[in-house]
Amino acid sequence: MAPIGLSSRAPFAFSPDQRKKAIDGGKKPRGTDITKTAAASMRRIVFPTFRTVDEERHHMRQRLAAAFRVWAEHGFDSGNAGHATFRDPEFADCYWVNPIGVHFSNITAGDLCMLNQAGEMIVGNRPVLSATFAIHGGIYRTSPHIRAAVHTHSDNGVAFSALGKVLEPISQDACAFYQRQALFDQYEGPVLDVSEGEIYGKIINEKRARLVILQNHGLLAVGETVDEMAYNFIFADKCCKVQMLAEAAGKTIKLPHEVAVQTGQLFNPKFMWVQFQPLYYRLLNRDPSFLSEDESKGLDFMANIPARIAFGRKESGSPRHSGHGTTMQAKPNL
Ligand SMILES: [Zn+2]
Repeated sequence: MAPIGLSSRAPFAFSPDQRKKAIDGGKKPRGTDITKTAAASMRRIVFPTFRTVDEERHHMRQRLAAAFRVWAEHGFDSGNAGHATFRDPEFADCYWVNPIGVHFSNITAGDLCMLNQAGEMIVGNRPVLSATFAIHGGIYRTSPHIRAAVHTHSDNGVAFSALGKVLEPISQDACAFYQRQALFDQYEGPVLDVSEGEIYGKIINEKRARLVILQNHGLLAVGETVDEMAYNFIFADKCCKVQMLAEAAGKTIKLPHEVAVQTGQLFNPKFMWVQFQPLYYRLLNRDPSFLSEDESKGLDFMANIPARIAFGRKESGSPRHSGHGTTMQAKPNL
């Protein structure tokens, strides 16, 4: 047996033919179209396919649970603030969300709950944050192409949001959000009305935005897949940090409009989906417990509290305002 840390396989080595081919290749005239090579590489990457909608749902639940764990590694958790969702692949009016009281780093696929547009819990029996229904419900109702969304109070996101401006194209990375972002500058308190979520959705549609900066509040990122959405948020938070660092150090230099547009096109949804894969598999290799269908422990402190009282669910009123709170009504699992 090989010593620990060493492979028992023979060490890698080029054959004489391979070595000659590599050396000869270096003598060929330059002029290879790198963009074609890159495009060919991207074509080799294919999104997962599913035989049934149940398989797709299962996949999305696992990916969202993984996203929370990855975000926890980035320090994006903040008490009970922070929620992320994906649109159910079968029931387009329904979406899956994390319950409150579970740290991002502990979330499992089994923790996620499914709500409908009336704010009723279709799957699960754990409390969810009122703002989830107000924000995500409005987005899914007004943005048919959006399949996943996240909002957290990350440090960089909250700090940048206080500046009342959008990300500037001061780096290659920041071009990912050039003309793909918007600023919502009308903070009037915690989001408790679905009409505000609908405004976010309309902004996302009008601006083709993948990022909305909620002034004095934090960041909201969306995506066409859970993986893209997860990485959009990570990337946006990073760009916020970089811009604040650069502006604190001196005068920044913006890339020209044409360069920013062209560079931004590279950061398409598929590209951003790809960026999440190393993070996903790093987590999977280290701690696959997020795949569990069991609910995580830790909600004992609210076991005896009627959720509709604790979180202010209104018992009457128009549908527009009746589902802001939490419901604990469990229905049969799908
Ligand atoms: Zn918030």
